[in-house]
Amino acid sequence: MEPRKILKSGEFLVSDIESKDIFIPEEMNEEQLMIAQTCQDFLNTEVYPNADKVDKQDRELMKQILKKSGDLGLMGISIPEEYNGFGQSFVSQMLAAEIIGAGYSFSVAFMAHCGIGTLPILYYGTEEQRQKYVTKLATGELLGAYCLTEPGAGSDANAGKTNARLSEDGKHYILNGQKMWITNAGFADIQTVFAKIDNDRVLSAFIVERDFPGVVVSPDEHKMGIKGSSTAQIFYNDVKVPVENLLGKRGEGFRIALSILHMGRLKLGANVIGASKKAINDSVKYANERKQFGLLISTFGAIKYKLAEQVIRTYAAEAATYRVSKDVDDLIDKYKTEGCDRGRATIDGISHYAVEAALLKVYGSEVLNYVIDEAVQIHGGMGYSAEMAVEKGYRDSRINRIFEGTNEINRLLIADTAMKRAMKGDFDLFGQAEKVYNSLQSLGNGKINELSYFDEKKHYIHNFKKLILIAMHGASKKFDKQLVQEQEVMNNISDIMAETYVAESLALRVQKVEGMKGEAASSLYRDILNVFVYDAASKIRKAALDAVYAFAEPQEAVVLAKAIETMTTVAGVNVKAARRRIADKLIEDNSYKF
Ligand SMILES: Cc1cc2nc3c(=O)[nH]c(=O)nc-3n(C[C@H](O)[C@H](O)[C@H](O)COP(=O)(O)OP(=O)(O)OC[C@H]3O[C@@H](n4cnc5c(N)ncnc54)[C@H](O)[C@@H]3O)c2cc1C
Repeated sequence: MEPRKILKSGEFLVSDIESKDIFIPEEMNEEQLMIAQTCQDFLNTEVYPNADKVDKQDRELMKQILKKSGDLGLMGISIPEEYNGFGQSFVSQMLAAEIIGAGYSFSVAFMAHCGIGTLPILYYGTEEQRQKYVTKLATGELLGAYCLTEPGAGSDANAGKTNARLSEDGKHYILNGQKMWITNAGFADIQTVFAKIDNDRVLSAFIVERDFPGVVVSPDEHKMGIKGSSTAQIFYNDVKVPVENLLGKRGEGFRIALSILHMGRLKLGANVIGASKKAINDSVKYANERKQFGLLISTFGAIKYKLAEQVIRTYAAEAATYRVSKDVDDLIDKYKTEGCDRGRATIDGISHYAVEAALLKVYGSEVLNYVIDEAVQIHGGMGYSAEMAVEKGYRDSRINRIFEGTNEINRLLIADTAMKRAMKGDFDLFGQAEKVYNSLQSLGNGKINELSYFDEKKHYIHNFKKLILIAMHGASKKFDKQLVQEQEVMNNISDIMAETYVAESLALRVQKVEGMKGEAASSLYRDILNVFVYDAASKIRKAALDAVYAFAEPQEAVVLAKAIETMTTVAGVNVKAARRRIADKLIEDNSYKF
């Protein structure tokens, strides 16, 4: 068999892949499905029955549930066997993250522990540090937290004032400072704390035990949502941290923080899919029970529209999420075969896909916000009642646009990181962009009617890619090094990139599904794809025009606007009928089975 073609991060802008090159959720194996089932069973038996109780800020109960998940082995999914874990693939980790993502506050506490609370030590720790801490974090014997944010250092994470200085005897760092918004602060035994040594410009990282004298945890914050997840400030008052608890090298903290955030963003991309599916299930069940005007509300076109749109966006985001996940796995394997040790291969593999990590984070969290917002709407007045799961889901979903880097920061990163990677020589973005820009007058749609169904969709997506290149080239020409300051334009470009990447992932997924199930059994997936690409084209047209009018001189703008018109023209779709068919399947199944 021909090897799978793997693209570098951001390379999708200039290279296409085929459906055989993409991993899709339908290809999960038995073991992966078993992991998913175990996570689901845990939610059903331990998390949902206690969801209201933990939301009354019962820290002790949350701690017990976390410990139980550790006893069952769920905390060890990402951890190699030698540190008491199960060493699962990245795809499996993402699948587990998806299922757990439907677990409200528990999801946040669990993900913080297993991800940002544990992995810095696994990936950057010495063997002694891993044996001492990771072996116990993997089983839940110890619980972890990640302490980066400070009152004056949020998005600007390197601006922290927390300071460390070496003691006179050279045995300890004396840590002083304050962290805020720390997930699991109320009960975490182990904290990865970022601080600057002396007057360093960049951060270092330290492993701090909660019991070290001078560590003071404040009471929990009162939050809008995820109320059951402990979030608090932590103060460090002359805390003596043994020198052997420096994590990584001096000055390596910012790099550690960023690498872990890339991982966190990818996992968040999976979490929000689980939360979206839960919201869809709650929506359709309610719509199938509630009657008004003598009819079930699920029979109304306006409600079908919402149900279908919930499905379309979730299914599309899911395609992108697992596409990236497998790319990460394959890159990790490649690094390992090149001689990298497993920890380094893993974190480098994850960090490489920084463009896609930011993209999944932004796109997925906004899909969830849409899905849960419509879930509340489908419930009408009941959606506003604290008795309903969707009310909790609505409040809990909002944080996803704020943490792991706000969506503003991540949106900027999508386009910026891709351009930086290209400048480094990862792929030829600027040469190709110039070529497309110089052929503006001759851009056309060719003999589109002669293309097969999937080739036609790919043709549209290819056009969207050309528009990204045009926008990048035009904006770079106009703003040069100042482009990064033109955040509105960068956001336009990032939005087009996200729509395009998701559209491509969806098209390849649907094509592969059709190959597996046959055309007759896959017509609904074509409906999903048809509606998605049709809508994406108009979103892209708007974003591209906004960008062009921000950088182009009037005459050039006319030419560019015409090109945008051509490149976003797609065949008409009866979206009403397509959405109805999608909704009807959901309504008939009474749950998300796509
Ligand atoms: C419930 C919760 C749990 C959290 N858990 C943790 C944790 O476990 N560990 C941890 O270290 N942190 C944690 N955080 C902190 C979180 O990561 C930060 O809140 C987040 O990074 C934003 O920082 P900030 O709150 O200071 O907002 P700010 O950085 O002040 O941002 C305010 C607004 O300005 C925008 N903005 C800022 N800079 C720019 C820019 N350059 N360009 C454009 N827009 C910009 C932001 O996007 C935002 O809209 C948590 C936060 C919350 C609310």
